[in-house]
Amino acid sequence: MNNFNASVVNANHERVIAVVDKFLEDRYRNACTCPRCMSDIVAIALNYLPPHYIVETETGKEFGSPWVMVETAVAEAIDRVMENPNHPRTKAGSVQPTTTAQEL
Ligand SMILES: [Zn+2]
Repeated sequence: MNNFNASVVNANHERVIAVVDKFLEDRYRNACTCPRCMSDIVAIALNYLPPHYIVETETGKEFGSPWVMVETAVAEAIDRVMENPNHPRTKAGSVQPTTTAQEL
């Protein structure tokens, strides 16, 4: 069973990353952009959206959920991570580190 030459990817993953990029430059300039928060935002947004797996060689066509759905999911995800980041906030004394894993 080593015949998996093509990769299967979730088309919504690429869309989520594009929207996160756009939002962080635009309406969420104050959001934390460390690798942990970025990963949390992408994971949470993807969990809001239906999976849309495609074979990677088909990228370039229009796949994935409608952009408006992706934008809604990303906005929700950024709000959640900003309210409850998985690390202490950098501004002194505002929030204690959370020890519980954030449920997705
Ligand atoms: Zn962070």
